[in-house]
Amino acid sequence: MRIFGLVQDSIVDGPGFRFSCFVQGCPHHCPGCHNPDSHDPAGGREMTVDEVAKELLKNPLTDGLTLSGGDPFAQPEDCLALAKIAHKHKLNVWAYSGWTFEYLRDQGTQAQRALLEEIDVLIDGPFILEQRTLALPWRGSRNQRVIDVPASLAAGEAVIIPDER
Ligand code: SF4
Repeated sequence: MRIFGLVQDSIVDGPGFRFSCFVQGCPHHCPGCHNPDSHDPAGGREMTVDEVAKELLKNPLTDGLTLSGGDPFAQPEDCLALAKIAHKHKLNVWAYSGWTFEYLRDQGTQAQRALLEEIDVLIDGPFILEQRTLALPWRGSRNQRVIDVPASLAAGEAVIIPDER
């Protein structure tokens, strides 16, 4: 898989200590994107899923895996394999995507849908510069939602996880 960067002990990409896997490649090109160098699918560096998983499992204090980018749903097969390894080791899995939950569920490829079904929490939608905020946890613009994916798939509609006060 193509990787933009790996971060141990992140506290900004979800709750607890997280291993953040920033994948390389994003088709959304949101104006104001914080990681423009991650857009080119040919950029970054090549790593095997096993190599990334080895980094993921290095720190016993890690609470979960966050798939970010780039867009993890642009490399759904490899991200699915990594998410499965995380779950096997009792780590929760969060993911960011510029596609919405409804798009991935209804119009995504089979591989994207399979990845969606392996995610615990999805932060969805593109970064919209006009809706930029620093006030909301985990996301960069107000349109983005923190979605409980298993509950949403069961309910047939996006189930939003409320912000803690
Ligand atoms: S989806 Fe994320 S990585 Fe992709 S262009 Fe938008 S903000 Fe940047």
